[in-house]
Formats: sequence, C-alpha cells, structure tokens
Amino acid sequence: MKSLVDRLATLHTLDAEGYRALLECDSDTESHLKERARDIATERFGHGIYVRGLIEISNYCRNNCLYCGLRRDNRNITRYQLSDDEIIDCCAKGYAMGLRTFVLQSGEDNTLSDSRITNLIGRIADIAPKAAITLSLGERSKDSYIALFNAGASRYLLRHEAANRQLYASLHPEEMSWSNRIDCAKSLIAIGYQTGMGMMIGAPGQTTDHLIDDLLLLQQIRPQMVGIGPFIPQADTPLGNHTAGAIGLTLRIIAIVRLMLPDALIPATTALATLDADARNQAILSGANVVMPNLSPTCVRDKYAIYDNKAATATESAEGIASLQQQLNSIGYHINYSRGDFQQYDRL
Ligand code: SAH
Ligand code: SF4
Repeated sequence: MKSLVDRLATLHTLDAEGYRALLECDSDTESHLKERARDIATERFGHGIYVRGLIEISNYCRNNCLYCGLRRDNRNITRYQLSDDEIIDCCAKGYAMGLRTFVLQSGEDNTLSDSRITNLIGRIADIAPKAAITLSLGERSKDSYIALFNAGASRYLLRHEAANRQLYASLHPEEMSWSNRIDCAKSLIAIGYQTGMGMMIGAPGQTTDHLIDDLLLLQQIRPQMVGIGPFIPQADTPLGNHTAGAIGLTLRIIAIVRLMLPDALIPATTALATLDADARNQAILSGANVVMPNLSPTCVRDKYAIYDNKAATATESAEGIASLQQQLNSIGYHINYSRGDFQQYDRL
C-alpha cells in the first residue's frame, strides 16, 4: 500500500482503483501519505503559507444549491451587498496589513455586472499595486470571464462541486447544469486564469465512487488551485439535517491531491477550521499551502452564512493575523506575504 503512495508521489497519477485504495487505506499508509504530501509541499514552498484576504461582497444569490445557506429560497437570511467604496476600504486595510491577494467572493448576484466588477478591479489595482485579484462570483458567460480577465483579474475560484453527474444533480435544482459548471471551469483555464476547482467532502449522498470521480477529474484537468472542505449543514437549507463531512477524510484527500498536483495552491479551508480549530494546522501538515482570512467588514460576516457557525473571527480573520502567525509557528510554519502565483516546478 505504501508503494501506491510512492507511485502517486513520483508519477502524480493513479487509476480509479489506486485512488480507491488510498481513500480506504489503513492508518500506517495514511501517515505515509500525509508525510509524503507534506514533504512535497515543503520542497516547493518551504514552510511559508500564502495568505489571501477574502472579501464576501454580496450574499444575494439567484441559484438554489441545496446545501448552501445563500440559496435564493432561504428567507431566514438578511441579504447585503457591499458598496464599491466598502470593498476598496477592505482591500486598503488588507494591503496595509501586507496582504497581496484579494479574493472577491459572492453569491450569483445579478447586479454584479461586468462593468461594475471591471471598474472595481481598476480601483483595487490603483490602491493595491501589484496585488493579485481573485474572483469567485460563480458561473458567468465566457465573454464575461474574458472581460474580467482583461480588466486585471488573474485568478478565479469555481469549485466543480461534484464530478459525478448524478451526485451533482442530487445537490442542485434541475435548472442548474453540471456540464455548464465544468465548461465554465474549462473556459477559465483556457482564458488563462489560475483556476480553482474543488468539492465538498461528505456531501449528502457522496460515496467513495463519487470521490474517485472527483480525483480523476482533477487529475485530468489539473487546475492550479483546489479547494477541499467538509460539507457543513446549514439549518435553513433542504440538506440542513445531514451530518457534516469528516475531518479525517478531508485531510486524507488534501494529501492525495497534493501528491497528484504537487505545484497546486491548496487552501486549508475555513470549513475545516469551523469544525475544529486545530484542523487548519493538520491540513497544512497534510500538504495545504494557503489560508484565506476573512477581510469582510465585521458587521456582514455572520450574514455570509453558507453553512452554520462559519468561522470568521480570530485566526480565520484578517484582524487575527498575528494569532494565525503564532498558530503556524507552533508547527514550524509561517505566513508568506507574497502574491503566491501558481508556478509549474515540474514538467508533469
Ligand atoms: N457562488 C459562488 C461562490 C460562493 S459559494 C459559487 O457557488 O461558486 C463558495 C463555495 O462554498 C461553494 O463552491 C461550495 O463548495 C461551498 N459551500 C456552499 N455550501 C456549503 C456547505 N453547506 N458546506 C460546505 N461548503 C459549502
Ligand atoms: Fe449561490 Fe454559490 Fe451558494 Fe450555490 S453555492 S447557492 S451559487 S452562493
């Protein structure tokens, strides 16, 4: 079994049965998997962890994903949208703290037009020279992605959510299309964005076969970033009664993806930190190399309730960056304040 880990670490690919064996491996193999993943990450990135300032610019959403608290049918949520000035203030605050990547994330808000986002990108570039701008605004047209890229956004996060069509269909309303989601991700990569894909672990109905499909899709597309976090129920959604995904399986999958995509940017997600304060460090020790502290104005943070009890303070917040640094120091790591663009080290 350990040889399977070594094969993935060397060749960066496995077949479905290889991934199944790793997803179901014993604890000895799991330790070896995490160790190899950690070593491959430190060979490339040292002990520096990239930081991205996350600004949740709107919680309006026209979509109705069954798992997400921002879904349009959720009436128990107070909707907000930050003004352009508020967004610029967040970036200025983050820039002064040393952050050099800003992630603008939102529900699929119809009022976030290309012209508005383009204008915002220009304003951010003015006050935060050389900072990277990452967008996570959901599915848009290819023309829109091109316009935003030309305006200066260089990265885009769009998790594929589920590589398996049936699982995707069970987590989304009929009007949402698996193929459109995948096409959007492929367009983003073709346009030149450093693109983040990814999935929730432990989503209701998800099986090992579904996770193998996710791993094979990531292996085929080889995105520059991969967001992997546990599903966490949100009480006001149709899936609110399901249990959260397991931390252990999430960490194991982070380690597998690190070995598959050695150069990738892999965050220790907020969802992990929400379930267990120590899980961020464990994710780093399993090969993650990015953290995304929350830079949104404090008064809106509890309104961006994708799932229940979402961590947005202390080490998950920009104000908590000193304690984040301390927490990383406790495992021998530190914050790397550089932009942290994707770099291909290996010819794969
Ligand atoms: N609207 C955009 C960005 C915001 S949602 C989009 O959908 O791409 C960002 C991510 O939050 C989603 O991709 C999803 O994977 C994650 N998410 C949503 N609901 C969640 C839940 N209940 N538990 C864990 N992650 C969730
Ligand atoms: Fe909207 Fe994104 Fe939530 Fe789906 S996951 S409901 S698109 S915010």
